[in-house]
Amino acid sequence: MKNGIHECWFCGSDKTYVDSHATRLRGTEQNYISQVRCRSCCARGPKVNFTVTVEPGYPDLDRTDPESAVSKADRQAIERWNKTTITNTEKR
Ligand SMILES: [Zn+2]
Repeated sequence: MKNGIHECWFCGSDKTYVDSHATRLRGTEQNYISQVRCRSCCARGPKVNFTVTVEPGYPDLDRTDPESAVSKADRQAIERWNKTTITNTEKR
């Protein structure tokens, strides 16, 4: 267990990390997905969708703020990954 993220359920690597990326933009609403990934085998955990409002500085995307939208989504993604079993994990 590194940074509170469980080792990869598929290959056992500890190179798991949480990542978020932008998906759809609708007006000033930008959708994002947070997800645990594995650098070794590219496994991916359950997706957590969240939406931020596009504004200067993107305060919702500030990972140094534990209450920002991205921090909350990351925590949820890690929680789901840690509880995950092989059968309900998406793999690509
Ligand atoms: Zn892996």
